[in-house]
Amino acid sequence: MTQVLDLGPRIELVSMDPHFHDISIALYRPGPDNAPAAYKVHTYSHLPGAAERIARVAEAMQILGGMEQTSDDLLGFPCGQAHMFAVKRLFLEACKLPPAQPIEPRPLHIFDKKANTTIAVASLGQGLYEVRATQQAPGAERRVATIARGLIRLGEMEEVSDNPNQVRFGCGYSHDALIGLLLVRAPNVRAAVREAEAMASRGVLSAPSNQE
Ligand SMILES: [Zn+2]
Repeated sequence: MTQVLDLGPRIELVSMDPHFHDISIALYRPGPDNAPAAYKVHTYSHLPGAAERIARVAEAMQILGGMEQTSDDLLGFPCGQAHMFAVKRLFLEACKLPPAQPIEPRPLHIFDKKANTTIAVASLGQGLYEVRATQQAPGAERRVATIARGLIRLGEMEEVSDNPNQVRFGCGYSHDALIGLLLVRAPNVRAAVREAEAMASRGVLSAPSNQE
């Protein structure tokens, strides 16, 4: 018997999981568009251990991105919004995490080599964040602006008109874990986009789950 799954549209794909037998893992969005956005991590692989691998990725998405399990065993953000770009990045990072590594939320700061200073993001509440260099350093101001723009791109965040160092989530909710996750990639958005394309397309011609 073939089980027909109503998974909804596929949002993102890791065509060959580097940590589990090169299986394909995908993120789907089941459910109607007018309901709070909910996602499902899924594989068509029936290898022993595949279900545990999927559970680990889903757990990582909760810890690294602040998602919660919904009543239907799906994943959603507390605000109910889709946060589509951010959830794609979150899914890719969750799949990349080596299985032996403990899953911990990322801090809200990174060391920036170009400005030779730590750049931190302060959560000001209600979805508003401010990017700050922790020390005066040549070029730090420019790096802060670059990272703020990177967060806007990767997290589909909004600009704050009178302050280029502030960004906000349109939903009005704080998503601290998600900011920590996006912050790692915010200094180099182009590399993040290239990586996502590579992860989706690697071996895609032979991937049995490429059923669209
Ligand atoms: Zn939100």
